[in-house]
Amino acid sequence: MPFSSARGRWARNGLIVTAILLLLAGGLFALGAAREDAMLHQRYTSVLDLAARSLDAQQATAHVHQNLARIAGRGADKSLQSGQLGAALQNLVDSLEALSAELAELRKFEPETAAGKELARAGEATARLLALAREMQRPAAAAEPVQLRSRLMDTAEGELETINNALGDLLVARRARIDDAARLEQRADHFARISVFAAGALGLALGLMLTLVAWRSMSTNASLMTQLTQLAREDSLTGVANRRTLDERLPQEMARAIRHKYSLSVVMIDLDYFKRFNDRRGHAAGDALLRDSAQAWLRQLRPTDLLARYGGEEFTLVLPVCGENQAEHMVERLQPLVPERQTFSAGIATWNGLDSPQELLAAADRALLQAKRGGRNRIVVSGREPQISLPLRLAS
Ligand code: GH3
Ligand code: MG
Ligand code: MG
Repeated sequence: MPFSSARGRWARNGLIVTAILLLLAGGLFALGAAREDAMLHQRYTSVLDLAARSLDAQQATAHVHQNLARIAGRGADKSLQSGQLGAALQNLVDSLEALSAELAELRKFEPETAAGKELARAGEATARLLALAREMQRPAAAAEPVQLRSRLMDTAEGELETINNALGDLLVARRARIDDAARLEQRADHFARISVFAAGALGLALGLMLTLVAWRSMSTNASLMTQLTQLAREDSLTGVANRRTLDERLPQEMARAIRHKYSLSVVMIDLDYFKRFNDRRGHAAGDALLRDSAQAWLRQLRPTDLLARYGGEEFTLVLPVCGENQAEHMVERLQPLVPERQTFSAGIATWNGLDSPQELLAAADRALLQAKRGGRNRIVVSGREPQISLPLRLAS
């Protein structure tokens, strides 16, 4: 069964394609999941950085508070130039500079967001406080120390509130980012799970489709092939085997006869005066006679027998497990099956186990010639003693 093995090959190829597609789809989705993971990692580290920075900023604010408290603690009557106040002012300037730097760093994380804008405002507030603190450090400030200090204290509260608000907003934004990241992670998880199923289903569906397409095309090809083979082996007019099939089958039947030690006979059949029939009744009627005779004979034969159209109005019978007498009886049964009261002559040769297929056919042909010469409408068995044979049927 060459087709079924070819189909098997195609089905196996289909399975391989399915596996490759599954691997490919799985790989692609794994790549997607890895990219999502890398994105998450970046987001987590940036949130952690932000958290550390905002902690530093809060500490810097706390220092500003402490230093302001220290400055406010000096009585209004005390000189700004005194060593302690000077040190407190320097500390305030340092801590404001540190705060300014932290706020600037933090803004890098949130350039466009609402928290980022708050941070910008906080930066400006810090700068104003810093300017004021530096002004107080100048020697000229000694002239009006009290006014300057009260200006610092008055503005400081409002500015520090701005800074604290901004840091508070940043905390909220950071919280939202962490939640966001957690949601993203959950989504990535779902995505990965769904994608594995989807990839599997997709690969399977594609593979099955390919296998089905291959299978269908194979079956179509197989049936076309069967039709072609049939056409190549059959005689188109009569529907029985053609000469090519006879040439193939006869040697096979001879080999089988040898192997199983049975007799094998061949018969050459030729319609009598067929030219005359054609001339009288027309070529189409001649065709019908050929077809009807062949089909009627075919119904009489055993499944193992072979009837082939040898050419023109000549047919050949290959009869396995059939000696000359049985062959003769068989041919006698075929004689009355020819329509229109037409007759045929037949030559029978039973194989001696040595002759070639051609020699066997030639022997049958010689017997047929004898039948013709003997007056037609009769059967001659090759090698049998010549005897007077009577016509089997009256010719019209
Ligand atoms: P004989 O008894 O000696 O066999 O005489 P015959 O007329 O049958 O033999 P002959 O060989 O002289 O003529 C055979 C005829 O068979 C000639 C041809 O027209 C006819 N024939 C061959 N093939 C076909 C066919 O396919 N269809 C038809 N209608 N006639 C065919
Ligand atoms: Mg002939
Ligand atoms: Mg003839």
